Formats: sequence, structure tokens, C-alpha cells
Amino acid sequence: MVQNEIVRLQRRIGTEPDGFWGPKSIAQCKAYVRSLAPSPCPWPHQKQASLQAFYGTPGNEFNLEKITFPYPTFYAGKAVATTRVNAECSHSLMRVLEDIKDRHGDNLVVMRIASDFAGVYNFRNKRGGSSYSVHAYGAAIDLAVGTNEFKDSWPMKASMPMEIIECFYREGWLSGAVEWGYDAQHFQATDLT
Ligand SMILES: [Zn+2]
Repeated sequence: MVQNEIVRLQRRIGTEPDGFWGPKSIAQCKAYVRSLAPSPCPWPHQKQASLQAFYGTPGNEFNLEKITFPYPTFYAGKAVATTRVNAECSHSLMRVLEDIKDRHGDNLVVMRIASDFAGVYNFRNKRGGSSYSVHAYGAAIDLAVGTNEFKDSWPMKASMPMEIIECFYREGWLSGAVEWGYDAQHFQATDLT
């Protein structure tokens, strides 16, 4: 994001709009999104045993069900109508996407990012890790990878807008951008710790 977008983001989360994304902004950003989330969080801890107890065995495609995107969606520039999501969080993901459409359907910047789909289910390990990614359970989604690459720091380099992040937190999903300050493409249905 450029400076005036960071200032706008700071106003939105209720911190001093000085254009400097430091520890105060980071802490307030977490507090702000958590204030939107359901309590208690409906999702399991992200350690493997908790994920497996809640979502089932990673890689088991019988745990997945198909959802239909509520607005025109593209994968690598090609129109895509559906994807498969873990049945435990598929309805929740639908509510997230419908919320994005309802609140921001006329916002071209937001919808361009929301419609740039980069995958849910993927039977793989975490990047650079030896444990399964939440994608292996079908309980994570990536959006707009091109402008939110894995290592890009958010919000300085990555551009994931707060409007989309808010819609995920309303369903208790967490965002890489807010929680880790990178991997801003990524959202997952795990608890907020
Ligand atoms: Zn991801």
C-alpha cells in the first residue's frame, strides 16, 4: 500500500493516522479485527492434532464439499465457478464471500482482489515446513497472490484491503496479513491464537 492507503487503513482500525506502520498500528489492528470476531472462536487451534480432530485427516477428499462462488471469480485469469472446501467450514466461507459481495460489491478495488482466487484445498505441507498446511484440510483460502506474495510485508508491500480482512474475521477466520504481517493472500479457519 502507498502512504495515503496506510493512513486510510489506520483511520479504519482506529489508530493514529501517521502513515507509519509500527508496533502501535500492529497491536491496534489485531485488537480491531478481534473485536469483530465471534466469541468464543468456532475454529480449532492450528496445531495438527486439533486440526485433525476437527477437520478430519488431511488429504481425505471425502471431507470436502463443493461451494459455488457468489460473484464472478477467476483462477489465474480463467473464470471458475466452484471450489471444494472442508464441510466443517464451507458454509462459513460462503457467508464470508456473500458478506464481501453485500458490503463491497460496488467497490471495484475490493472486488478485483476478492475475485482473484488462488485456491482452497491443496494437499501439501506449509511453506518451508514439514507439517501440513491448513490448505491440506481444505480450511484455508488464498486470494490475489500477485499483489500479496508470501514474503511481502503487509501493509507496506502487500495490498490486501481491510474491507476483505474484516469479512473473514466476522466469521472467525484469521488473516496472514494481520496475524503474521506477511502471507497476506492467506485466510484460514483456525482460532485466533
Ligand atoms: Zn494460503
